[in-house]
Amino acid sequence: MVFPILYSDRFLDHQTGGMHPERSSRLTATVNALKATPWADQLEWRSPSPVTAERTMAAISRVHTPEYCDLIAGIAEGGGGMLDGDTLLSTASYDVARLAVSACLDGIDLVADRNSPAFALVRPPGHHTEPARGMGFCLLSSVAIAAQYALDSGQAQRVAILDWDVHHGNGTQAAIDGNPAIVFCSLHQFPHYPGTGRADDRGSIGNSLNIPMPMGATIEAYRTQFETKVRPFFTEFQPDLLIVSAGYDANRDDMLAGIELLPEDFGELTRFCLELTPKVLFVLEGGYNLPSLSESVVATIEACLKH
Ligand SMILES: [Zn+2]
Repeated sequence: MVFPILYSDRFLDHQTGGMHPERSSRLTATVNALKATPWADQLEWRSPSPVTAERTMAAISRVHTPEYCDLIAGIAEGGGGMLDGDTLLSTASYDVARLAVSACLDGIDLVADRNSPAFALVRPPGHHTEPARGMGFCLLSSVAIAAQYALDSGQAQRVAILDWDVHHGNGTQAAIDGNPAIVFCSLHQFPHYPGTGRADDRGSIGNSLNIPMPMGATIEAYRTQFETKVRPFFTEFQPDLLIVSAGYDANRDDMLAGIELLPEDFGELTRFCLELTPKVLFVLEGGYNLPSLSESVVATIEACLKH
């Protein structure tokens, strides 16, 4: 078995400065860890397709407003700058974010074609970006764009999104709200940034399931939520494709949150996903402690290879 990873060194060119947690060394550390595994020869490193108007931009326009795209394009063209208090762009950032979207679209094509999982190892992350507002280190809502692309391209009729990043995927939820062909489930520390994602927020048509987790929660609490809430929610919907907003900032060692998962716990969460459907696209979101991040991505892919 080979396992496809969508990755480009171009993703390092979104420059956030030496002190920002969402930095390019997140990817280099993860790539190095994957290449050091005993199963490295089973990894299929794939460069994302070039960004095109017909495919990438058309997909982005299904989620984001033209005004928002013009705004971030303008900041990048002007040499970079701040989008909000903790979200910044460098000159290359808009191009890099669009290439990350292209990698996710490629991932959908691969997962649908091969009936097996893939990983889009991308940055910047995307799940906080709403259709008309970027925030929280995120520029383009890559997972929501990929979900809509899976539907528009006829490769899926029902798409589920699981967001296990420690922060609520407010942007993804906003983008898919009202779409009966997509369901969204987020497990996140609460109360915590960005402040949304209460359990009683089910979206306008009930296609979102928010599961707040208390500070200090471990895999036992996650396991209970998966068994009693996540599995029934997804099983009833019967998705033919699953996209995971795979953030790894719920790790015990992560400095941005207080959840107590260990890298190997993500192997268990991955096996849960594969039991729902073999068509799983993992898309990197957060995760800021380099050893924990890279070990968790290794655990995710190892669980796929051994499934
Ligand atoms: Zn996060």
